[in-house]
Amino acid sequence: MGINNLDKILQLVPSLNYADTKWLNNSVKEKLNSDTVGKVIAEREQTVSDCPHCHSIEFVKHGVTTKGIQRYRCKECRKTFCSLTGTPLFKMRKEDKWLAYAALMWDGVSLRKIARHLKINLRTAFFWRHRFLQMPNQNQPASFTGIIEADEAFLPESFKGCRQMPRESRKRGGGKVPLVPFLISYQRGDQFTYRVMDRNTKENLAEAITPLLTEGCCLCTDGNLSYKSIVSNLDIKLDHKRIIASDGRVIDDVYHIQHVNGFIAHFKEWLDRFKGVGTAYLGNYLAWHIWMRDKGYGEETLWINEALTV
Ligand SMILES: [Zn+2]
Repeated sequence: MGINNLDKILQLVPSLNYADTKWLNNSVKEKLNSDTVGKVIAEREQTVSDCPHCHSIEFVKHGVTTKGIQRYRCKECRKTFCSLTGTPLFKMRKEDKWLAYAALMWDGVSLRKIARHLKINLRTAFFWRHRFLQMPNQNQPASFTGIIEADEAFLPESFKGCRQMPRESRKRGGGKVPLVPFLISYQRGDQFTYRVMDRNTKENLAEAITPLLTEGCCLCTDGNLSYKSIVSNLDIKLDHKRIIASDGRVIDDVYHIQHVNGFIAHFKEWLDRFKGVGTAYLGNYLAWHIWMRDKGYGEETLWINEALTV
């Protein structure tokens, strides 16, 4: 745009009424947000190194998408792709609203409020939430070393967000809502992780915790006898500290499960604002909560940058 056009716009600003000024302000903000997202995507384009479908490195440029993103065609599998293929941002529209959406997600604002605020429909808000939640979920650690805290927690089973109620209801005895168990583990001084379990059985707990344990680590749990049995059946050697409340909550000043207990309390409190979370999405919310805790509120483009590195 020439300087004359900009001058013309600026000259008109003082004559705008309040509503129009607000509208202009929003348009400018959206434009800025969209440019920031565009820059992040452009940077991503520089790093495309192989076909996301077959990982061949033989590909050629193949026009641009409607958004102006470079498209490629793989010489091996003949499929086309762009720099967003395989990332949570693929085929998401309205990129001028992504940053504002990410900010509202950080604040734990409800979907209805987000939809109203950003003038998007509720279905879009819902679809985006799960795209946004997908990314942290793909970055879970495989195993832990050193001192590991682990504890189970429970939330009522919920079919919120599911199109159909499952045919086989798990309701048993007195119509009580069954509880869904999940395991929270923490490698001391480093990272939390989670596993959502099917049932509260020793077998499920063993499945959840065993992959995390490594030779020589020290596992801290509560007095649940299942852990004792699981540890005794392992092929690896590790130290197991059972923190039994009546024995005191900390052993030798270092062995305790207070970090995981604190995390669980904080997570449940944070979850309250969503007024019930579908069990199918519980893992996504856990991953998001862990991610927020690890990153703090970083750069406004943090989420979008990381979504593009998966
Ligand atoms: Zn390919």
